[in-house]
Amino acid sequence: MHDDPKQGVVDRNCQVHGVSNLFIAGSSVFPTGGFANPTLTIVALAIRLADRVKTII
Ligand SMILES: Cc1cc2nc3c(=O)[nH]c(=O)nc-3n(C[C@H](O)[C@H](O)[C@H](O)COP(=O)(O)OP(=O)(O)OC[C@H]3O[C@@H](n4cnc5c(N)ncnc54)[C@H](O)[C@@H]3O)c2cc1C
Repeated sequence: MHDDPKQGVVDRNCQVHGVSNLFIAGSSVFPTGGFANPTLTIVALAIRLADRVKTII
């Protein structure tokens, strides 16, 4: 995840750079590897993404 398409596949909203209808949910969007349990962050990102997709559709 990065605002710059040269440094990340998705932007801060988990949207794939340059593709308006493609989003990625899951730990693969993490910009760095963490050391603590990741599931809560994954769920928080998924809920945020769902809220965003609802506003787009
Ligand atoms: C043994 C173990 C214990 C863990 N314990 C904890 C814990 O206590 N707390 C915690 O917070 N985290 C824990 N984790 C980490 C947590 O499980 C992962 O970070 C989390 O599941 C990642 O979620 P994800 O959706 O990004 O990926 P995944 O859960 O790996 O989901 C990816 C999905 O994509 C599917 N897939 C893969 N390739 C394809 C394909 N080509 N086509 C279609 N589908 C595909 C897979 O089948 C899978 O269902 C643990 C992990 C392990 C391995």
